[in-house]
Order: sequence, then C-alpha cells, then structure tokens
Amino acid sequence: MIVTVFITNVLLPNFIETQSDFLFISRLGIYSGLILAGFMSYSVAKTSFLNMKVISAQLFSVAMVLVFFLQLFSLQTKSDLFFKVVFLFIVIYFSKMIVSSVKSEVQRKEELQLMSDKLAQANDQLRKLDNAKSEFISIASHQLRTPLTAIKGFISLMLEGSYGKMAPEQVDVLNKVYSSNERLVNLVEDLLNISRIESGRMEFQFDKWQIENICQEVIDTFVLKAKEHKLYLEYKKPNQPLPELIIDGVKVREVISNLVDNAIKYTLEGKGGVTLKVEQRGESIRVTVSDTGIGIPESELPYLFAKFSRGKDTSRLNTGGTGLGLYVGKTMIENNGGKIWAESDGQGLGSRFIIELPIVKHKEEAEERLQKFINKI
Ligand code: ADP
Repeated sequence: MIVTVFITNVLLPNFIETQSDFLFISRLGIYSGLILAGFMSYSVAKTSFLNMKVISAQLFSVAMVLVFFLQLFSLQTKSDLFFKVVFLFIVIYFSKMIVSSVKSEVQRKEELQLMSDKLAQANDQLRKLDNAKSEFISIASHQLRTPLTAIKGFISLMLEGSYGKMAPEQVDVLNKVYSSNERLVNLVEDLLNISRIESGRMEFQFDKWQIENICQEVIDTFVLKAKEHKLYLEYKKPNQPLPELIIDGVKVREVISNLVDNAIKYTLEGKGGVTLKVEQRGESIRVTVSDTGIGIPESELPYLFAKFSRGKDTSRLNTGGTGLGLYVGKTMIENNGGKIWAESDGQGLGSRFIIELPIVKHKEEAEERLQKFINKI
C-alpha cells in the first residue's frame, strides 16, 4: 500500500502534462490499488490469514513489478525502452522466485508443525497405553501372587511331614514343584517391582542399617545353594565395624541377594565360587560380589542393567531367567543414592558386581537425595 501511494502520489505526478494524462494516471492509481487489493485478498484467502510472510513477499513483488512497469511510461529513447523492458522481465522473474521460495519455506514449516502435532498426539496415546500396561501388570501380578504364596505354604507343610510321611520319590517331585513355584514367585515379584518403578509407586523406608549384617544374612541364605552347586561362598568383611548407613535395608538386601544368586547361577558347578566383600572407601561403602564363573563379554557390559537384558551364553545356563533382576536392582540402589556397575575380564574369566553406597548421617539427607533422584526421572 505504501508503495502504491508512493507511485501514485510521488512518482506519477511527474508525468502529468495534460488533462488526459491526469485522467489516465488517476485510473492507473485506482487499477493498481485494485490489483494490489485483489492480490492481497487472494494471498490472505489462500494462506488462511496465517502466512504473513507469503503475503508480504507477494505484495513486495507486485509493488516492484508495478514500479518497473510504470517506468515504461516515462521512456525517452528506444534503447531506454529496451533496457527497461529487459529489466522488467528480470524483476518479474526474481519476484516469482522470491514468492515461490517463501511459499515453499512456509509450506515446509506448516508440514513440520503438522508432524509435530501428530507426534505429540501419538506420544500422548503411547503414555496412556504404557500406564494401562503397567496397571494391568500390577493387577495381574497381585492376583497371581496370592495363589502362589498359598502353593508355597502347602508344599512346605507337606515337605515337613505335616500331612504324613512321604516316599523319597514323592519328596523329590515335591522339591521340584517347590522350586518351579519359587521361580514363578520371583517372576511375579520382578513384574510387580517393574510396574511400581514405572508408575513411580516404589516406596522407600530409610533407616539406620549396618551393612555387614545385611551381607551376613545374604551369606546365610545362600550357603546351602552354593554347597549344592559345589562352589565356595566366602565373606570378606573389615575387622572394624563400618559406619551405619541410612538406607532402605530391605531393598539393598534384595539387590545383594540377587547378585549372589546370579554369581552362583552363572558359575559352572564345582568351578570355583563366589566372594562377597564389604569395605569402606572414603565417604562410601563398597560391596563387591565376585565370582569365578562364565564372565561377561565386553560387548554385553553396557546393556546388562537394561530391562529384559540377558546375555547370549547365560540363557543356556539358566533357562529360567527373565533379565529383570539387574534392572530392578539398579533402580533400587540409585534410589538409595548409590551406584551399581559390573566388571569382567571377559568370557570364562568371572565377573564382579559392585555397589557403592554413600555414608549419609541423617535420614533427611537420604530422603532429600531420593526426592532429587525422582525429580530427575
Ligand atoms: P536373569 O539372571 O534373570 O537373566 P538379571 O537381570 O539378574 O536377570 O541378569 C541379567 C543378565 O546379566 C543375565 O541374563 C546374565 O546374562 C548377566 N549376568 C548377571 N550376573 C552375572 C554373573 N554373575 N556372571 C555372568 N553374567 C551375569
């Protein structure tokens, strides 16, 4: 519009000599205004009032073309006319290029916006589905846990002879039923833990714990299992008592138990054993579970703590594994402000699983750290 005003009010009056000139130029002004208005409405309608960039580019181009077109009326010589016509075509060509490049840029942006809207919708849908899945796992696992606990209880009573003496073959079969049931109980417990982690419902109870006692309890639990596998189970603890830790001892015990259980599972029968070591390292306590087992290839180390991650070789040795224990364990240790990682010198050369827990003096400090960790995820 500014350009039109400039043309009709500043540029063109220079050419007015007669009355017919005046009439022609004033008509020209009206027509150019009409053309501009038409162009503007066309742009606005086409771009749904959104792409001001396109509208401005189109207006700018039309104005440029108009200015150079009007220049033709001020011609003096033939060569002058020739250059002005050529120039006008050049201007038309570049104006078209500018408009089409702005249009395609706007179109690309619109497509991107559309795609990001669709992605946001899909993401929302996925989150809902994920919540529904966690809810389903949680309900299903709770329903499964009750009958499994009842089965476990009755088998224990039968094995103790509460329902009469049994033949050795019956005891043998019942022991197999018991261990299969145990596997199911562990699986259900892992699934429940996963759904608690994913829905942020895993609760932590921080109290004062003596880590040496926790480790001793784990050792006591696995003495028999290690013996059955013809493996040694060694416990190395410092001579001096370690400082108390403020942790969720039940969860930390669960993690150490899983590490010792794995160490026994993934060591071939009669080929060495497992060592559980606990020590102070500066401002933290370190628990190391090392074994002389099948080891872990370097390529598998980075994925070990991921959900459902199982080593290639290990599935042959322990067909009942789920690949959930280390994932759950990592979350539990991190929620206690600690770190957990694995080391191995390679296949067949044993493994070391290391937990480091900070020495925290006040309960509030542990709770604050947990809150920070939760906020981070
Ligand atoms: P699961 O033992 O049920 O498969 P985990 O999450 O406890 O699940 O372990 C994940 C994987 O880590 C195992 O499948 C195995 O490949 C590897 N792993 C764990 N502990 C050891 C170990 N002590 N020695 C060798 N590999 C191990």
